[in-house]
Amino acid sequence: MTGAQRGEVSASQDMISAPQARIDLAALRHNLAVARRHAPDSKQLAVIKADAYGHGMLRVAQALEAADAFAVARISEALSLREAGITKDILLLEGVNSREELQLAQQQRLQVVVHQAEQIALLQQLSGTPVAVWLKINTGMHRLGFRPEDVQSAYRQLRECPAVAGAPVLMTHLANADDRSSAYTDEQCRRFERAVAGLEGEHSIANSAGLLGWPATRRHWVRPGIMLYGASPFIDSRAADWDLQPVMSLETRLLAINKCKKGEAVGYGGFWRCPEDMRIGIAAIGYGDGYPRHAPDHTPVRVGAQRSGIVGRVSMDMLGIDLRTCPEVKIGDPVLLWGKAADGGILPVDEVAEKAGTIAYELFCRLTSRVNFIYQG
Ligand SMILES: *Cc1c(COP(=O)(O)O)cnc(C)c1O
Repeated sequence: MTGAQRGEVSASQDMISAPQARIDLAALRHNLAVARRHAPDSKQLAVIKADAYGHGMLRVAQALEAADAFAVARISEALSLREAGITKDILLLEGVNSREELQLAQQQRLQVVVHQAEQIALLQQLSGTPVAVWLKINTGMHRLGFRPEDVQSAYRQLRECPAVAGAPVLMTHLANADDRSSAYTDEQCRRFERAVAGLEGEHSIANSAGLLGWPATRRHWVRPGIMLYGASPFIDSRAADWDLQPVMSLETRLLAINKCKKGEAVGYGGFWRCPEDMRIGIAAIGYGDGYPRHAPDHTPVRVGAQRSGIVGRVSMDMLGIDLRTCPEVKIGDPVLLWGKAADGGILPVDEVAEKAGTIAYELFCRLTSRVNFIYQG
């Protein structure tokens, strides 16, 4: 999906009560520079799958001119990038699963991950221009990849296959790198070394967490995803600790203010009651826009320049806000759900995600087409 299909609008349009996601492309480029600073000797494979983690894949690809290559999960994503004129190398992280897909990949000069024997068989039946491949090794995540004991044989078959261009990049994916106290990342690296011993080819291990937190995983290629979008890949630190800047700012407006009495219940089910006479703000955003319905009371928001929290169940188009900390606010004032406010104040997406029992990745990806996207910088 391109930015335009996501409901992209021009910044001048009046959107008094529609949620908007402002995408700061300068921050995106800054975050790529942070990745480069941490892994100066590695090539950067910028991961832009899932519509660039909900940020708009094409606009993100255009802004990340400085990346060495792009990675997407599926061929449909890569084809839409090619159709839009993106000529940079693109890797299919899940590879291909049919002859047709492989031929399309070949025609469109896509690189493919090979993670199972069936994909080698497809390559063995292919003629014409050779395809660049990345050989994926399962070092303990048990999602995709050849088991270490099968790697030498898979590698040999690929080297003997005329449809494979040169030595495969040897790659694996880390399961627990977000937890810097876990010993599993070192174990995965050891399994990787043993599996690829003696094989010619470049290496790639690190996702964002590996790149920032695990120096030994910085090889020929690093594969940053979430850090490019300005969220922390770690369970125990915030994006700002790594000099990452928020790229997406999700904002809406207050569409009503209720004067409620002590004891009155707010929202469906009436699960939250006013502890005193107070004002409740109603913001124009809900789960129909992708804001998580399971976000609990006091999930943080910013109203004007003040921090506050949501109260009551999130509705489809609206949610309630405790206005006791914001006596000055009025109908039409901006409400920031995460990201950077117009006054520069930041509400980290990681904080919202933690409160809502999820991760920034999911909050970004679940925004619906009802949200207007505005690209800046
Ligand atoms: C999604 C993905 C990445 C990027 O991971 P982040 O945690 O977002 O940095 C890297 N490698 C593979 C194989 C992936 O699927």
